[in-house]
Amino acid sequence: PSGLREVAVEVPSVKWGDIGGMEGVKQSLREVVEWPLRHPEAFLRMGMSPPRGVLLYGPPGCSKTLMARALATESGMNFLAVKGPELLSKWLGESERAMQALFKRARAAAPTIIFFDEVDALACKRGGGGETGAGATERVLTQLLTELDGIQPVKRLVVVAATNRPDVIDPALLRPGRLDRLVYVPPPDVLSRREILRLSLAKVPCAGDVEHEALARRTEGFSGAEVVALCREASICALEEDRSATQVRQAHLLEALGQMRPQITPAVLA
Ligand code: ATP
Repeated sequence: PSGLREVAVEVPSVKWGDIGGMEGVKQSLREVVEWPLRHPEAFLRMGMSPPRGVLLYGPPGCSKTLMARALATESGMNFLAVKGPELLSKWLGESERAMQALFKRARAAAPTIIFFDEVDALACKRGGGGETGAGATERVLTQLLTELDGIQPVKRLVVVAATNRPDVIDPALLRPGRLDRLVYVPPPDVLSRREILRLSLAKVPCAGDVEHEALARRTEGFSGAEVVALCREASICALEEDRSATQVRQAHLLEALGQMRPQITPAVLA
């Protein structure tokens, strides 16, 4: 449908180095997607076929989308991103055709990564019933499964999906040959938080007293997005104190820290 022209093929620009820390996730994605795409002959020789799909799961704001983009950049692929709920709402009654058109567009632009953010909206366990539009969701999931099953390894098309709710994903989507590689994207640990701080504060004029290490230790439970937000808040604190401020000091970062309530609770981590 013509509405799908809003979903544009992008040439991504996020690199692994733009994502602070999270080395384990980067390594998994390299092994699972980048290597087979770069050396398909070696994989075929060893009796393995390149993956068709990967599911990234973990709490919000912890770099799932960034990872998908960096994976595309670093493997030299184009990038097509869609949000699950949008696919359902924008193309009401035409979601299956939108899904077909999406894959067609991705094939035409190959090599391509199709990224489904909030994929749980499309792929919640079937038979739950009751809600309005459940039939439409079921049809769109069926279409997604059909498209996944139809991907030919040589076509260099990889589906990356993301969710905060892996528990509600229909197991049919996770069967072998579909999104059969699961990669957990955890909240950043202390080393990753230090790297995120380093990257974010590199764009801010900082006083000599700013201590990344101490801030990294004090941001336990923060998502990557919250660590980035902390740096922005600190700049605001500096300007609130003095409109002609030219630097962010450690005190501003600590003040901002005191104002923030991290969203990731232990319940989300469990
Ligand atoms: P959601 O589940 O809410 O879609 P997500 O896991 O996809 O979240 P992203 O959209 O990748 O998270 O990250 C949100 C923002 O947080 C990024 O645009 C970036 O500014 C920041 N961010 C998160 N993690 C990192 C990181 N490791 N390094 C640098 N920036 C990060």
